[in-house]
Amino acid sequence: MTTTVEKPTEAPSAEEKPKVTKTAIVTGASSGIGEEFARQLAGRGYAVVLVARRRDRLDAIAKEIAETGATAEVIEADLSKPEGVAAVVKRIGKGDVDMLVNNAGFGINGVFGAVPLERELEEIDLNVRALTELSHAAITQMKPKRAGTIINVGSTGSYQPVPYMSTYAATKAYVLFFSEGLHEEAKQYGVTVTCLCPGGTSTEFQQVAGVDRKKLPRGSFMEPAPVVKAALNGAKAGRGIVVPGMMNKTTANLNRFLPRSAVRKIAGRMFKHD
Ligand code: NAP
Repeated sequence: MTTTVEKPTEAPSAEEKPKVTKTAIVTGASSGIGEEFARQLAGRGYAVVLVARRRDRLDAIAKEIAETGATAEVIEADLSKPEGVAAVVKRIGKGDVDMLVNNAGFGINGVFGAVPLERELEEIDLNVRALTELSHAAITQMKPKRAGTIINVGSTGSYQPVPYMSTYAATKAYVLFFSEGLHEEAKQYGVTVTCLCPGGTSTEFQQVAGVDRKKLPRGSFMEPAPVVKAALNGAKAGRGIVVPGMMNKTTANLNRFLPRSAVRKIAGRMFKHD
């Protein structure tokens, strides 16, 4: 179901308001990195379309964004389900979307075989299938206009296997490779595709995944704000990949300096699960 939050009657004057000239869709906008994307994009003058399952959270964020004078629309959709994806594809089909942020995603920290298969498949449906389908819908609209931006959210886990989060790391490897391929194709017709690869970020991700933050290196977590700022600036500059933060850049490049077998053992130690 789609709703648009009206601008408040006592909104700031036209001079104070960011001028809305463009529209961005952000999936997974009800918390964490996606919520931050929605807020920063509204601040940069975009009308934002917020997508996720938790309607109450989306409505509250849309209301806050509208209070700044920007326009926010809400689509309640489960993107692990075909009908949820179809609702967003339909919205993209209106033809006014300048930016798509494929951010919705989750991971599971557990022993493969012990985690229910439905949950592993839901992860693939959301992290891979929905992202691919929405990218397809957006590219189809953007290509004839020779303009547009797609930001796909990968992970530093896109760069190496992660034992006890094997499905998650594999989905994020897909996101990176898919996005890099599209980046090269799409730049010929003026569309930028950027893969954002964050490392540990303070959101609800760890709680949902069941990751014990205490096992991860101290001080390695970033706040969503600098992660999103780096992504938006990188996409604006036409970059194919954005890895925010020095620690994350090092993690993403470990494969270059250490044998693969060593890198996956280190990852396995960090995410070990009984
Ligand atoms: P988060 O706070 O848990 O946010 C995840 C978002 O995805 C929520 O808005 C959630 O909304 C939405 N979502 C989950 N399942 C969905 C579904 N079936 N349909 C529609 N929306 C769904 O975590 P986050 O850290 O911001 O995650 C954002 C992205 O960053 C993910 O792709 C994640 O893999 C990636 N990432 C995160 C980290 C990290 O450490 N935080 C590191 C690397 C990459 P609802 O529950 O309301 O549907």
